[in-house]
Amino acid sequence: MTPYQSSLPINCIADPNSNCIECELEGKLICFVNKKFANRFTVGNLLYRILASSIFVFSGLMIGHWWMLISYVGVVVLTFTIIEPRLLCSHCPFYEKEGKFLKCWALRGMPKLWKYRPEPASKAEKLLMLIFGGFIDLFPFVGSIWGIIFFALNYRDYLFLGIAIIISTILFLTVAGYFSKALLGNSCKKCTNFSCSMNKVPEKIIDKFLEKNPKMKEAWFSCGWQINNN
Ligand code: SF4
Ligand code: SF4
Repeated sequence: MTPYQSSLPINCIADPNSNCIECELEGKLICFVNKKFANRFTVGNLLYRILASSIFVFSGLMIGHWWMLISYVGVVVLTFTIIEPRLLCSHCPFYEKEGKFLKCWALRGMPKLWKYRPEPASKAEKLLMLIFGGFIDLFPFVGSIWGIIFFALNYRDYLFLGIAIIISTILFLTVAGYFSKALLGNSCKKCTNFSCSMNKVPEKIIDKFLEKNPKMKEAWFSCGWQINNN
C-alpha cells in the first residue's frame, strides 16, 4: 500500500488545509505521515543495523578487533540522533511539524535538537552527510570481508563463527538489497527533502510543492531556485 492510500486523517506537510483529492501532487510525493509506511521503514532500518552489528560481533570474536563494532555503533547512534537531523532533516518540511521528536516516514522518533531551516542544504552539509551516511551503510561490508577472509585462512579453529558471519552477511545483503530498492527505486523519487543528494524528485514537482508551501518557497527562491518551465 502506498502512503497515499492510507486511512484519514491526512496530515499534509505542504499545507495543512489542503485536500489530497484535489491536489496535483497526490501519489507523486511522500507528503504526509503514514504510520504503516513509517513502521516498515523502521523495521527495515533496525534489521539493517542489527545485522551489521552482528557481523562486527562475529568478526570481533574471531579476530579480536572490537574497535569496528564500537566505532560502528557509536557513529550510527551519533548520526541518527544528532548529525543527520542537523545536516539533512532540519531542511525537510517534516521537521517543521510541531513536537520535540521527528514525525516522518524515515527517522521517526529522533530528537529535534536543531531549528527548522526551510532553505536547501548547503554543499558542505551534503558532503558531510554523504561521508556519515556512506560510513554507516557501507562499513559493515569491510567487517564482513575482513571476517570471511580471516575465516578462510583459519577455518579449522573458527568453524562456528565463520558460518555465523557468512549467514549474517547473506541476511545483511538481502536487507541491503531491499533497502536500496525501497529507497533508491521508490522513496527517493517521492521524498520531500528535495536538497538531499539522493533525492530524485523532478523539478516540476518541486515547483508545485513550493507553490503549496510559501515558507519553503521564499527560502528556496532567496537561495537562487527558479521555476522550471520545461
Ligand atoms: S501535498 Fe497534496 S497530495 Fe500531498 S498530502 Fe498535501 S494535499 Fe495531499
Ligand atoms: S529528511 Fe527524511 S528522515 Fe529527515 S525528516 Fe525528512 S523524511 Fe524524515
